[in-house]
Amino acid sequence: MTPAVEITGALFIDGGDGHEIRKGDRAGQIVYRREPRARFECLRCRTTEGPVSGPDDVREFVANVRADHQTRCHPAPTEHHQPRKAA
Ligand SMILES: [Zn+2]
Repeated sequence: MTPAVEITGALFIDGGDGHEIRKGDRAGQIVYRREPRARFECLRCRTTEGPVSGPDDVREFVANVRADHQTRCHPAPTEHHQPRKAA
């Protein structure tokens, strides 16, 4: 069973432009000409988190931003399209 997923935000990831070093002391490292970037746009409160840049920051951001944003997501009470009205 697939649980129902409410789409509340959009995560944008730019993988950047880099290549892995194949030889030498720094073999295995990735050199970026353009660093990876990421940002998150919440559809509920219209807030943008980020952008962040750099491979480590991007990885952490992508892993945590949804949970992190949940704690500070406060949609404006004056939305035009209320899904349901308080009685
Ligand atoms: Zn939000």
